[in-house]
Amino acid sequence: MNTLIRNAPSCADDREPDVLTVKEARKRILQRINPLRGPERLPIRSALSRILAEDVISPIDVPGHTNSAMDGFAVRHADLAPDGKVTLRCVGTVMAGQAFGGEVGTGECVRIMTGAPLPAGADTVVMREHVAENGDEITFGAGERLGQNIRQAGEDLAKGSAALSAGKRLTPADLGLLASLGQAEVSVVRRPRVAFFSTGDELRALGEPLSEGEVYDSNRYTLFGMLARAGAELRDLGVVRDDPDALRAAFEDAAAHADVVITSGGVSVGDADYTKQVLGELGEVDFWKIAMKPGRPLTFGRLRDAWFFGLPGNPVAVMVTFYQFVLPALHRLAGETEWQPLRMRARLREPLRTRPGRSEFVRGILEQGADGEIWVSTTGAQGSGILRSMSTGNCFILLDEEQGPLEAGAEVTVQPFAGLI
Ligand code: AMP
Ligand code: MG
Repeated sequence: MNTLIRNAPSCADDREPDVLTVKEARKRILQRINPLRGPERLPIRSALSRILAEDVISPIDVPGHTNSAMDGFAVRHADLAPDGKVTLRCVGTVMAGQAFGGEVGTGECVRIMTGAPLPAGADTVVMREHVAENGDEITFGAGERLGQNIRQAGEDLAKGSAALSAGKRLTPADLGLLASLGQAEVSVVRRPRVAFFSTGDELRALGEPLSEGEVYDSNRYTLFGMLARAGAELRDLGVVRDDPDALRAAFEDAAAHADVVITSGGVSVGDADYTKQVLGELGEVDFWKIAMKPGRPLTFGRLRDAWFFGLPGNPVAVMVTFYQFVLPALHRLAGETEWQPLRMRARLREPLRTRPGRSEFVRGILEQGADGEIWVSTTGAQGSGILRSMSTGNCFILLDEEQGPLEAGAEVTVQPFAGLI
């Protein structure tokens, strides 16, 4: 389906030909990318946050035996009096990690600890706090339910069932789950190798003095942070001058050693033409205009054997386009099947001016009000060079192509930064 937005014209906006929507651009990218091959086997601790390469089938029941969830007494429920007291004889004790050899007979009970296997004959555990003890004579009251305080064998994981599915990002809970199966190692997808550099004659590296008109290269640091959190293997190629030979060498070097090459700056109209010229020589790359703010220009394609993303130069635009296009691509490369950034609804604390025709990613601050509702306010000035907005903000306020101006109190969709990575 062609969703170039010129197919949905309106007199009330500033839509132009050959401009892609955010969704359409993301779809085009994801349609082309396939998961990386070559899984590796790792000790489970090293596999935290990595993507599982194959299903994990449980080789055992967890728990392996039906056991007590409480310290108390294992009984036959039929021995208890439904509406009065009854006294049973305690014939033994079973601790966690032990097994009770005999059977609990009629009129008998067994003292049992949390996690200890339920003795044969017993079907119910009564909490210690609910009984009166007098030597071996244990007196029970009314109201104990059949089967209570018992964990069934295999109730966490049944032998032969899929404990974890391929494509899952391993969480702390998953490491525990793998350990509970006795599994010390696991197969995970290899990490994507990502090479990145900044372009622009005005950029200075940290430690160098700034001359008139120069800025420090901050994009490589935000990119480093976002890529590191995304679990990529990083190669930082520094700042590259707007010079064809330097650019060619950097692109060649980057593409030779990486699955993904990312640059920032140098792809918007008005930049020195070298980037486009060199990209044309080395690969097949599309230059897109995207109906979004910030982040309008985006370059995507193939550079030798690597995927290439040419992000805009403005510091906020780099982050917005990374989260909307590069991060989903990295998840696809890593084989993660279920990734969806978290979205939620919140109410605006202030009116928002916006015009239809493009997606806007307004930086917002999300909080729970005294009324218990989730409210969002903007971080203030929204220029694409104001990186502080990403630092003080904790979410994007998502305004889609159709959205017009909003009143205070209106409901909007937000994307918390915490849910992105
Ligand atoms: P460009 O896309 O190259 O036209 O850059 C747009 C704006 O972003 C310009 O103001 C650049 O100075 C700025 N910019 C480009 N790259 C970086 C960078 N790596 N760090 C900080 N600012 C940058
Ligand atoms: Mg530039």
